Amino acid sequence: MGQLDLLWEYQNLDLTLDKYEKMRKNSPLRNKLIELKNYLVQQQENLVKLNEEAEKKNHILNRINHEYEDILKAFKSDVDKVEGGRVRSVKQLEEMQKAAVELKEKLAKKEEEVKGLLKDIQNLSGKLEEIRIRMVKAKKEYSDIKAEYDSEVSTIQKEYEEVKQQKSELKSKLDPELIKRYNRLKKSRGIAVVMVEQSCCGGCNMSLAALVIERLKKGDDIIECENCGRILYWGNKADGDAKSAV
Ligand SMILES: [Zn+2]
Repeated sequence: MGQLDLLWEYQNLDLTLDKYEKMRKNSPLRNKLIELKNYLVQQQENLVKLNEEAEKKNHILNRINHEYEDILKAFKSDVDKVEGGRVRSVKQLEEMQKAAVELKEKLAKKEEEVKGLLKDIQNLSGKLEEIRIRMVKAKKEYSDIKAEYDSEVSTIQKEYEEVKQQKSELKSKLDPELIKRYNRLKKSRGIAVVMVEQSCCGGCNMSLAALVIERLKKGDDIIECENCGRILYWGNKADGDAKSAV
């Protein structure tokens, strides 16, 4: 088997490996996993944000509760003074009544604030609960799909390793310079070695000179297409001129 035949086979294995890579990357299961992962990250961020918000509200609630207690104490101490007969003048009593009205107003205002905050906190904890439930569901879905994906990958992986092994065996039989040339062409042209089809380059379709065809039929010369630069391969043509099967 000549170098060109080997190179042709090498390319087949190489393209098969590319196909496996592509299959792995384009797997619908893999895409679904990426989607779910992004979703979970986003929900986790939401959870942290809402938790912080709830904590802040709780903090404010505590502060207002303390303020409420202080006002209540002041109010009670005034009431005690009146009930204890410690208020001597009518003027003092009037002042205290006025103060009591103000304190009551303050208490009512604080009560309103507390009510509002409690409502906010309840809303937040409702939202947090919803997110937690959604996340548990998504995590379950993720692990189910992951298991399915892993088994899909292990099947592909087994075939992949076999082809890779064949490729590396073939590589040891090829001229390293030819491999380099192949890799360069693959990078720039996508396909490095092309079959000659009806006297035309199988890559760019330009018709090849009769002399080139003759050389290709005859030997193992590495001839590139003048137009696209790909390595031309005569292959196993049925006209009797071809070399042995790959
Ligand atoms: Zn060409």
